[in-house]
Amino acid sequence: MMYLDHNSTTKIDKRVLSRMMPYFRENFTNPSSIYRIAQEAREVLEDARETVANCLKCGPKEIYFTSGGTESNNLAIKGTAWRRRREGNHIITSRIEHHAVLNPCRWLEGMGFRVSYIPVDSTGIVHVDALRKAITPQTILISIMWVNNEIGTIQPIKEIAEIAREKGIYFHTDAVQAIGKIPVNLKEIRVDMLSLSGHKIYGPKGIGVLFVREGTHIESLIHGGSHEMSLRAGTENVPEIIGLSEAVKIATTELGEENRRLSILRDKLETGLQERIPDIIINGHREKRVSNTLSLCIRYVEGESVLLHLDLNEICASSGSACTSGSTKPSHVLLAMGIEPEIAYGSLRFSLGRKNTEEDIDKVLDILPRIVEKLRSMSPYK
Ligand SMILES: *Cc1c(COP(=O)(O)O)cnc(C)c1O
Repeated sequence: MMYLDHNSTTKIDKRVLSRMMPYFRENFTNPSSIYRIAQEAREVLEDARETVANCLKCGPKEIYFTSGGTESNNLAIKGTAWRRRREGNHIITSRIEHHAVLNPCRWLEGMGFRVSYIPVDSTGIVHVDALRKAITPQTILISIMWVNNEIGTIQPIKEIAEIAREKGIYFHTDAVQAIGKIPVNLKEIRVDMLSLSGHKIYGPKGIGVLFVREGTHIESLIHGGSHEMSLRAGTENVPEIIGLSEAVKIATTELGEENRRLSILRDKLETGLQERIPDIIINGHREKRVSNTLSLCIRYVEGESVLLHLDLNEICASSGSACTSGSTKPSHVLLAMGIEPEIAYGSLRFSLGRKNTEEDIDKVLDILPRIVEKLRSMSPYK
């Protein structure tokens, strides 16, 4: 099987798994207990927090462990809305966010909040001027993703963070696709809150982080014991927290070299497909995008049919975000970029990762043009 869908999830790294195993097998204790072996669990837990903090260039007290990217986004958005509801009822986000941001925002609309969904340009970059104009005295939160999961576009997070800071508005960024793909330095980029997820960076599923900058106050969503500095109750998931910290460390250390390797492979795939398949459109910004992602639209075919044929050849790819595939709607991200629905139906996303090689790219370059040719010969649209 050839896996080219790393933006939807990744295989756990062996080094990560081996650091987790002792905390399933031997030291299963509750880090809040008094005996020495539990104190050891507490220590490794706090070491993990420090490791993550060092990688992101923030303080360990600003790192809160959650059950994943979805929970982190919910906590940032609903936690801010609830805490600041007397100061204002307006939230700003973009049209291309992950559903883990869009749906909490929609839910808050039902609770009386007003949400502005800022448009993007044809390359998938948020219109910063439109964002600036959308700000009102009622605005309490801006949430804009750092890197888009479907097209890999990198947003002007530094600029938006400065705008928000100037106005006293909390700024949250979904950085699930940014970690391990671009440098994330929270000393330089003054976001107030940031979400990340373990399983997108070769760590375990069901674990994530919300960074909350000191001085940023949000309400808790899960009430119980005083875990995670009383922001997120529940006995800490020690093995997964250790796994996540190891995954963040590896991703940060290997980032430069891995990016160089992946961008060569991605560019080879991109130019190879452009040479071999007529009428394809590359989606997203040519420079402001991460090195592992290639999103394209193939005219006159359906992305879903192409995926089924790729699967028969043991190639795993995606038609966009995993959350929207299976439904028949074209991607909201591509539509927001102004791509016609007929064309957006033909979308494909290849997201490369650590184990991919040049042979993998050659295989796709051999197989995909033949699939497209076959499907097009049967297509009524052409
Ligand atoms: C995968 C993903 C999420 C959700 O993270 P989970 O850990 O799966 O809940 C959120 N945002 C983006 C951009 C993602 O790619």
